[in-house]
Amino acid sequence: MPNLIMRFKDGRPKALTLSYDDGVEQDEKLISIVEKYGLKGTFNINSGCFPADDIEYAPGTIHRRMPLKKLLEVYSKSSWEIAAHAYTHASLVGLPANVATDEILRDRKELERIFNTIIRGFAYPYGAYDDKSVEILKNCGICYARTVHSTRDFRIPQDWLRLPATCHHNDPELMNLAERFVNTEKCGYPMLFYLWGHSYEFEAQDNWDVIEGFAETVSGKPDIWYATNIEIYDYCQAFGQLIFNTEMTMCSNPTSFDLWFSYGDKDVRIPAGSTISF
Ligand SMILES: [Zn+2]
Repeated sequence: MPNLIMRFKDGRPKALTLSYDDGVEQDEKLISIVEKYGLKGTFNINSGCFPADDIEYAPGTIHRRMPLKKLLEVYSKSSWEIAAHAYTHASLVGLPANVATDEILRDRKELERIFNTIIRGFAYPYGAYDDKSVEILKNCGICYARTVHSTRDFRIPQDWLRLPATCHHNDPELMNLAERFVNTEKCGYPMLFYLWGHSYEFEAQDNWDVIEGFAETVSGKPDIWYATNIEIYDYCQAFGQLIFNTEMTMCSNPTSFDLWFSYGDKDVRIPAGSTISF
C-alpha cells in the first residue's frame, strides 16, 4: 500500500514559521527584514508588561518592551499571529494552579481584547514547563505551546503543547539546516522549519545579518508554505479529520479547509466540505 503523506496548503510539501517573544522594539526591524522575503510567524506577548507610552530607556538598554500604542502600530502593519506568553512573564512551573491559570487566561483575555481576535497560542516564559502547566494550558483553551527545545529536524510536532523548534537563530547549524530544508525534494513526510528567538538578541549580538541571510536562503520557494504558527496548527488538525474508505479510494473532508495529500503517485486536493474519489 502506498504511503499517505500530508501536504500543506496548495500541495506544498514544506512549511516554515517563526516564533519571537516578549514584544520588544526590535520586532519592528525583524518584521521589515523577514516580510521583505515573504516569511511569517508569531509574536508571543506579555500583556501585563507594557511600559508607559512615554517610557525612556536608559542608554544601552537592549531589552526594550514596546508600550501598547507602539506595539499596536508595529504589529498592525504585519500579518503575524499574536500569541500569549503569560501576563507577567512568570514561569508557570512551581506556581499554584490558580495563579498559573490567571497568568495564562489574563494574558489571553487581554490580548483578545486588544487585538480583537481569538488567542490560542502560547510560548513558555523561560521555556519552563511541566505536566501540570501543560494541563493548565489545556484547560485555558490553549492549543499549542512552544518550548525552547531544538530538534534540528523538520518533523511535524506530535505534542503541540510541548512544541519544540527546529532551532534557535543562534544555533551554529542554522544555515546548514536552512540549506538542507530548501534542497530536500519532496520528502516522505511533511517538513516543517520552526525558528525561534528574541529580536533583541540581534541587536545585543549585532548580528542582524543572521536573520537576513536565513530569510534570503529560504524565501521565494514554490514548495514552501510561509505561515504563522496557528495556520500550521489548524491545517494539521484539519488534516487529521479526513475520513477515508478502507480501499483508500475515497476521502471525505468535513472541515472548512481545502486539504492536500500525496498517495503513491497521486497528488490529491480535497476541497473543504467535500467527498471525492481519487
Ligand atoms: Zn519571554
